[in-house]
Amino acid sequence: QQYGIAEALKALGVEDINKGASTGVQWLTTKGEEIVSVSPVDNDIVGKVVAAQAADYEAVVKKAQEAFTTWRLVPAPKRGEVVRQIGDELRKYKAELGKLVSYEMGKSYQEGLGEVQEMIDICDFAVGLSRQLYGLTMHSERAQHRMYEQYHPLGIVGIISAFNFPVAVWSWNSMLAWVCGDVCIWKPSEKTPITAIACQHIAARVFAKNNVPEGVSGLVIGDAKIGQLMSNDGRVPLVSATGSTRMGKAVGQAVGARLGRALLELGGNNAIIISQHADLDMSLVGAVFGAVGTAGQRCTTTRRLIIHETVYESFKNKLAHAYGQLKIGNPLDEKNHVGPLIDKDAVNSYLGAIEKVKKEGGKVVVEGGVLSGAGYESGCYVKPAVFEADNSYEIVQHETFAPILYLMKYKTIEEAIALQNGVPQGLSSAIMTQNLRESELFLSHAGSDCGIANVNIGTSGAEIGGAFGGEKETGGGRESGSDAWKVYMRRQTNTLNFGTNLPLAQGIKFDL
Ligand code: NAD
Repeated sequence: QQYGIAEALKALGVEDINKGASTGVQWLTTKGEEIVSVSPVDNDIVGKVVAAQAADYEAVVKKAQEAFTTWRLVPAPKRGEVVRQIGDELRKYKAELGKLVSYEMGKSYQEGLGEVQEMIDICDFAVGLSRQLYGLTMHSERAQHRMYEQYHPLGIVGIISAFNFPVAVWSWNSMLAWVCGDVCIWKPSEKTPITAIACQHIAARVFAKNNVPEGVSGLVIGDAKIGQLMSNDGRVPLVSATGSTRMGKAVGQAVGARLGRALLELGGNNAIIISQHADLDMSLVGAVFGAVGTAGQRCTTTRRLIIHETVYESFKNKLAHAYGQLKIGNPLDEKNHVGPLIDKDAVNSYLGAIEKVKKEGGKVVVEGGVLSGAGYESGCYVKPAVFEADNSYEIVQHETFAPILYLMKYKTIEEAIALQNGVPQGLSSAIMTQNLRESELFLSHAGSDCGIANVNIGTSGAEIGGAFGGEKETGGGRESGSDAWKVYMRRQTNTLNFGTNLPLAQGIKFDL
């Protein structure tokens, strides 16, 4: 292991941790199967963890229930102070955690640092939020009555996260949930358990210093089985699940069957419309970064380019030229633009998609393929590929979590918007144009049907200040900024009579 990985593991205190469940500061001796985390960067072992079993999950839930009874009584700004200190601790360990994210998941070191920065940003946001958990005051229709609403903590928030943002998703949920007075149980992706353990350690130091009750931050490492326990568990009022649409449908149904609350952040199939009025140089940067950043493994990755027919050929050529310049290799080496896919299964699904698009009639613009030889021994490095394709192709309608980009032509802006919306997913979308009418139409109710719609920036990379999430098969959930916090609380409407009569609502008379 080069690039200071051993040092980072040591600094984060995770070099010989193998327990798969924790209630905060304490770790449980788990007895499940061993999960070996192998880095897609070089096939070396990042760490080994003994997975949690149902009994461990049970113990963590019990502790969380106990903790909730005291944590909810801590004033929200005091809970915010704990989150502020977690933000400071993350600042201290930004380089090490960023490096570990890069090494365990395979994204570039810069993107690893960016992910930790998002965690720091959401901590700051949550600290401010801890003094702004506002409800409204309404005018009562009855004399000498006051009516208002308040937000109360919900209880246990279950967090199921995906491999591609192994640490940020936890913080988007838990930092808000904690200031809201909830307690959290995190089930990270079984593909990235070591970064999760590192986060738990970072938070635990702050918890210990502030006497935060054990159980406020539970961690349970395991595969889908733990996620299923959580989804079916009536003691977990909110399950926030990030991952594939397949997973979200299972979680949504299980949580729905018990009338719990699910916050779903699922797959995307994001497009950029490149108009004849676009700045093509800017469009190129947005499209290439969007398509190949994180090796196409972002939920907001650009998967389709919908290009006006008059600029189609020239843009296609620019794109092919830019793809020719991409450096693929070790993501910890800052010279490289594109790192590996997460594992061999991901490589197979990339190859399967390429075969399928060709079979359906797609034309190669930039050929893909798996790289071999020095530096590529893990077998997880692939070439970003580009195809001309129809939006109606079965494979184009699906999210393939890899750097494959589909190009299509359009004549009118209405047609472009219909193509953009013509997929089952609805996460992120963008238009490149300097034409006001086009951009306003794209952002209007007759425009993009996605949760995120951008003008003159690409589809990928969002700021924590806005609510993040998407429509249709992306699941409808919103997390992070704006008023996304409301999903972590229960709303209560209160009516208070300070008069000497008891008038009924709607003028109903009930004389005794
Ligand atoms: P995945 O669906 O395979 O796994 C995600 C998590 O769900 C893991 O922790 C996994 O163990 C768990 N899980 C799987 N099946 C489950 C079940 N039946 N019940 C409960 N839990 C279950 O996804 P992945 O491969 O880790 O991540 C890639 C996917 O995540 C892509 O589709 C991507 O678009 C999506 N994603 C979405 C967002 C978003 O905010 N919309 C963000 C990141 C990733």
